[in-house]
Amino acid sequence: MPELPEVETYKRYLDETSLDQIIVSIKVIDNRVLDVDESYLRKSVINNRFKSSIRHGKYLLVNLGQKYLIMHFGMTGDLTYYNKKDDEPKFSKVIFHFNNDFNLAYISRRMFGRLDITDSFKDFIKKKKLGPDAFKMSLDEFKGALTRRIAIVKNLLLNQSFVAGIGNIYSDEILFRTKLNPKIKIDSLDECKVEELYTNIKEVLQYGIEKQGDLSTYPDHFLIPHRKKEEHCPICKNEIEYVDLSGRRGFFCPNCQKR
Ligand SMILES: [Zn+2]
Repeated sequence: MPELPEVETYKRYLDETSLDQIIVSIKVIDNRVLDVDESYLRKSVINNRFKSSIRHGKYLLVNLGQKYLIMHFGMTGDLTYYNKKDDEPKFSKVIFHFNNDFNLAYISRRMFGRLDITDSFKDFIKKKKLGPDAFKMSLDEFKGALTRRIAIVKNLLLNQSFVAGIGNIYSDEILFRTKLNPKIKIDSLDECKVEELYTNIKEVLQYGIEKQGDLSTYPDHFLIPHRKKEEHCPICKNEIEYVDLSGRRGFFCPNCQKR
């Protein structure tokens, strides 16, 4: 599932390929990915340009001037910029056609991705109850988000209203690096550990962005290549265990992540 580093990669891709060209038409192949009325989407987008984009958590908001086009990538979303009709990617759901004859395809293999239109970036964040962006937040914002929270740390990292952008895979890496058991309560951490957690959130996401979300190229000393049954911890060689929390399976080393 695309998490923050993957969506940041899509953002940079869109910025490099698709800004400042007039959108002359849209092809909606499957309107089940629309959270907005199809005619309103057309009206909002056609004859406008993608002027810039902002990523917040796992959402990409593309500035159209008066409005924003919102992209969420669900479980399997992607973007492809292409020229020839024959190159239309498989599983394209919506295609934006530009005046230079190129196209941007919004792809979703399953139906979980979503497109929407909003008038205000801030209202959208409020409506979706999103916390601060996990990569851009300051230490003070992080500490502010922690106030009065008593949840299990893994659940909290996955909770988009706490901080936005972290999913199952990167939360495992963050906890591994911070040597925290996924089931520890957040309010039991001292200030020093909270700051360490903050630093590791930033570093794990930064590394993910540099890797453009490609998990297959992670070096052995990360937990990510060992997130499966019968794998061993790259540090202590103990067997990796898993825990099911909020419907997701987290992996951890019971020896390194005792706390
Ligand atoms: Zn270990």
